[in-house]
Amino acid sequence: MATQRLAIVGGDAAGMSAASIARRRDPDLEIVTFERGPYTSYSACGIPYYVAGLVDPADRLVSRSPEEHRANGIDVRIRCEVVAIDLDARRLTVRGAAGEETTEGFDQLVVATGAEPAPLPVPGAEAIEAVDTVGAAERLRSALQRGGCNAVVIGAGYIGMEMSEALVDRGLDVTMVEMAPQVMATLDADMAGHVQEAAEGHGVRVVLGASVEEIVLDESGAPVAVRTADASFDADHVVIGTGSRPAVAVAEAAGLVLGDSGALRVDDRQRCAGHDGVFAAGDCAESHHRVLGADVNIQLGTHANKQGRIAGVNATGGDDRFPGVIGTAVSKICRYEVGRTGIGEREAADAGIDVVSATIKDRTRAGYYPGAGPIWVKLVAEPGSGRLLGGQIVGVEGAAKRIDVVATAVWAGLPVQELALLDLSYAPPFSGVYDPLLIAARATAKLL
Ligand SMILES: Cc1cc2nc3c(=O)[nH]c(=O)nc-3n(C[C@H](O)[C@H](O)[C@H](O)COP(=O)(O)OP(=O)(O)OC[C@H]3O[C@@H](n4cnc5c(N)ncnc54)[C@H](O)[C@@H]3O)c2cc1C
Repeated sequence: MATQRLAIVGGDAAGMSAASIARRRDPDLEIVTFERGPYTSYSACGIPYYVAGLVDPADRLVSRSPEEHRANGIDVRIRCEVVAIDLDARRLTVRGAAGEETTEGFDQLVVATGAEPAPLPVPGAEAIEAVDTVGAAERLRSALQRGGCNAVVIGAGYIGMEMSEALVDRGLDVTMVEMAPQVMATLDADMAGHVQEAAEGHGVRVVLGASVEEIVLDESGAPVAVRTADASFDADHVVIGTGSRPAVAVAEAAGLVLGDSGALRVDDRQRCAGHDGVFAAGDCAESHHRVLGADVNIQLGTHANKQGRIAGVNATGGDDRFPGVIGTAVSKICRYEVGRTGIGEREAADAGIDVVSATIKDRTRAGYYPGAGPIWVKLVAEPGSGRLLGGQIVGVEGAAKRIDVVATAVWAGLPVQELALLDLSYAPPFSGVYDPLLIAARATAKLL
């Protein structure tokens, strides 16, 4: 039998996870990855820390270079963009760095094209490069070194918050402008308030409910200000963090089906409907949300790595299932750590789901132990049964990873009554004798 060829479009988390597991499972398979940028397996998640100067040089963000993947038997073609997919002929059109086009055949295909910044539809935004790749982060760092003391970050999601903190750490005066009435839309407003307070305490000026109308540029095309309806903020540097959309143009043009979220529709084997041997994974694909019972597009490295692996297993004759997501995420915003999982009160209201919810404030360690600080835990449960549907945590060091216990309980469908007496650990450096999660579960159970 002729050697089979697996082609992968996109050489980061999902794409290279697929390639690596496929390589391990089938030593004879020909595997080729097309990546339009110069890097493979890089950590976009680490970009704020490189911008802050905590990580240096930028290539420390690359966990596996194209050469390392090649040494592992994966034919990685960098600076090669896939511009068309012919699913019937099983052929890709690939544009190289010099603009030349070639065609490449495949037997199995994994689409792992990730996400791309959603354009900000205001004059001047076209001059601002998104900071979502290692190269873009290096260019931002160089621009910061050339001078200028004012930065405006547009968008107060977790990436905008992390970037604001990084820019303050580099000595800039930072204003963060957000259209919504709160920071971090993935949290309920009460929990987001604590995060805003941490950012302000760090020196970030937070402007909420303000829609950017223009990024004012000088004659050379460099930013000088960001203008809203009511104000203008000096800006030697502008970072746009207003969200990303799945990068699906090439796949959609090929006839792959999109779901309601705008991402590629896949089944639980990461298969694209109606096309044998064609898979999609990562930020470009939908995931089934286990609490909402709906298909969603939540762009996280955690999902991308797992989905890529499953696509790679199934593209090589295996039968692994992706069990879905509950949107578990953590971040560090200035003095606080932040975690969230499942659904919050606002998402529940949007989905027409009745919930009960309680929030407690406690300490991360025994009160007398050095370093103890505030932690807020909010839990959301189903009325009657008490089934835990989600949780949010904000607090000082030691707070965020507690969300993994909440995530496990949501995943398992545990009721808050049971969580309240769960056998969690205790010693003074880690918690009070009742962990804050147990106290929050008890408070929620009382409302049932
Ligand atoms: C600043 C920042 C911080 C983040 N922090 C976190 C975090 O703390 N935790 C977390 O879980 N997630 C985080 N994320 C999200 C995480 O980085 C993404 O979810 C993850 O990288 C998605 O992996 P992916 O492989 O699906 O897509 P991507 O990483 O976007 O990779 C897709 C690749 O495909 C390439 N490509 C696209 N189209 C083509 C084409 N036509 N031809 C060839 N190549 C193509 C792109 O160049 C890209 O390299 C962060 C993201 C950013 C930007």
